[in-house]
Amino acid sequence: MVAEKTLEDIPGVGPAIAEKLREAGYNDLLSIAVASPGDLADKCEIGEKKAMDIIEGAKLCADIGGFETGEDIMERRKEIVKLTTGSKAFDELLAGGLESQSIVELFGEFGSSKTQLCFQLAVNATLPEDRGGLDSDVIIIDSENTFRPERICQMAEYLGVDPTETLKRIHVARAFNSQHQILLVDKAMELAQQYKVKLMIVDSLTSHFRAEYVGRGTLAERQQVLNRHMHDLLNFATLNNAVIVVTNQVAAKPDAFFGDPTRPIGGHIVGHTATFRIYLRKGKAGKRVARLIDSPNLPEGEAVFMVTEDGIKD
Ligand code: ADP
Ligand code: MG
Repeated sequence: MVAEKTLEDIPGVGPAIAEKLREAGYNDLLSIAVASPGDLADKCEIGEKKAMDIIEGAKLCADIGGFETGEDIMERRKEIVKLTTGSKAFDELLAGGLESQSIVELFGEFGSSKTQLCFQLAVNATLPEDRGGLDSDVIIIDSENTFRPERICQMAEYLGVDPTETLKRIHVARAFNSQHQILLVDKAMELAQQYKVKLMIVDSLTSHFRAEYVGRGTLAERQQVLNRHMHDLLNFATLNNAVIVVTNQVAAKPDAFFGDPTRPIGGHIVGHTATFRIYLRKGKAGKRVARLIDSPNLPEGEAVFMVTEDGIKD
């Protein structure tokens, strides 16, 4: 639907502005339609009012942003692909695996296997579709410096795929602070034009935000920035028909903002934008338990899985 029209079809966009837009990485109508006015204004060095007009124009041209029929939405949902977790029970909990066009939030205490699960999902995403993969490259935004290529190799070997080839398809960037983390999503958008990227992982979504915005007075600002970050991630999911996985640590000790230790950081903002929320906890004898919470179309439930040398298993 979007393919036939170009940036120059947007009212008020001539060759000069179209060039600025392309230079800033806005290569098609959809990427403009979902941009925020502030971002677009900054990157293209135009006024915010002009940016808003361009975004509105792009929405009209791209035929999005208005009402859609249920049938249209059903059509788009037909493109949804699913990514296996490596555990049958876990996949069943999710009616087949993690869905594209959505954000999946893994939350749990330190050591509840959030990062291990991310590694496994990264390896699985490189697998062909008939093995539950997405036959795609993977982007990982690593904010805690916990990416371990050795673990990727172990998991790849177990699955009988070449570890080096697998590593080549996983693009990792360390986020040094929250602002950098946000910028890396823009970089990821660029990378996704070069490679087919159907899985992006942010591990952890919230640790920088939590460390940087301390004190009660900063809560509103933190939530606002986090909200925009989540929407950028959701745009990535929509534009690339990709799965987004974010991790979120629940405080072992009561959080200064949310007294309840089992409440994930980011509170309502993260929870409302994430499509699927999965609570992970340690079970008996090395087992892990995943609990599905607040799904728009699936019942709540639990699945038990194992973290082993070879990866995630039943
Ligand atoms: P989180 O990211 O939730 O803090 P991790 O995903 O880092 O937690 O999980 C750490 C746990 O994963 C460790 O406690 C250990 O039980 C398990 N683990 C890590 N590496 C291996 C391995 N090579 N073999 C088996 N289990 C492992
Ligand atoms: Mg971790």
